[in-house]
Amino acid sequence: MSGLSGIVRKAERTQRDNPKHTYMKRYLIIGFSILSLNNSFCQKGMLQFRQEGEFKIVQFTDMHLQNSVSESVFELVKNIVDVEKPDLVVITGDICVQDTVDDLLLRLANRFAEKKIHWVSVFGNHDGENGPPRKTLSAIYRSLPYNLNSTTSGIKGETNFILPVAGKKGKHQALLYFFDSNAYNPLKDRVKGTYGWIDFSQIHWYRNQSAAFTKKNKGVPVPSLAFFHIPLPEYQMLWEEDSASCIGTKHEEVFCPMINSGLYASMLECGDIMGTFVGHDHVNDYIGIRDGIALAYGRFSGAKNTYGHLTPGARVIVLKEGKREFDTWIRERGGNILYSTQIHFNKEQAIKN
Ligand SMILES: [Zn+2]
Repeated sequence: MSGLSGIVRKAERTQRDNPKHTYMKRYLIIGFSILSLNNSFCQKGMLQFRQEGEFKIVQFTDMHLQNSVSESVFELVKNIVDVEKPDLVVITGDICVQDTVDDLLLRLANRFAEKKIHWVSVFGNHDGENGPPRKTLSAIYRSLPYNLNSTTSGIKGETNFILPVAGKKGKHQALLYFFDSNAYNPLKDRVKGTYGWIDFSQIHWYRNQSAAFTKKNKGVPVPSLAFFHIPLPEYQMLWEEDSASCIGTKHEEVFCPMINSGLYASMLECGDIMGTFVGHDHVNDYIGIRDGIALAYGRFSGAKNTYGHLTPGARVIVLKEGKREFDTWIRERGGNILYSTQIHFNKEQAIKN
């Protein structure tokens, strides 16, 4: 089977210096957010490539906010957002780990609202564990300033939605898929492993959506990225098969589900996804390519209330309008850039359904 083939053009493994409210305001701020159009948000409410044809995403992950330690995370978020000036922030799960979340989430959202930057978040296994249940939490996210989350009814999980990115040549120059990778193994009596998986209803939804977008795009899969919390089993396979080609670090095992529910196979068959971006494993931050799909971790963005020794930071992803390629790097607290990499796909090929 030949799928997309991807190559890493450049990998800089060395560090280099940094180149050059309150709740009651919620609805007011949301109203303001619709009226105030920043670079990446066009009048029809759709994300948009910049004039120069780029769209920058900052991925934070595993903040594990709790009152006693959150200030350093808010500072990290502010500093990285200030220096990177993304068009969208994606948080790949495990935002809050205490039972009262409203104040922390609002303070976090305001970090983005102050800069007029839209943000989304997918659920991690810890979201909803101590505080409000996931359905309630999903509604809270959607009510927050500058949040673009939505939810898809009739399928498993809450944070399943798609954001198209418009370009000069059309409404759907790129697609961003967001999945709820669920929390814990629902079949513990029969299946090994601690963590849950993206289930058939979600994969079925993805396949249908992907096919519809491809059809609208004259049969050509739309360049797409996918974001979720728990890595797929293929992250482990990639490392076992070809760790030398991976860029970044792996200091712990891949805590993926112990069965394969088939999302990766579907992504290969649909032919649109260029890369997947996850969190969950706080001391892994590598990216590598398997079968033409880039499998990437973000960089842990939390404080000292979790395990691990990596300097907190974020992954930055820059999409290129009309091209199956993206640039990515890790931005650390303090400004260092690590693992700057360009990934492009040298042909578009997918199995026809
Ligand atoms: Zn997790």
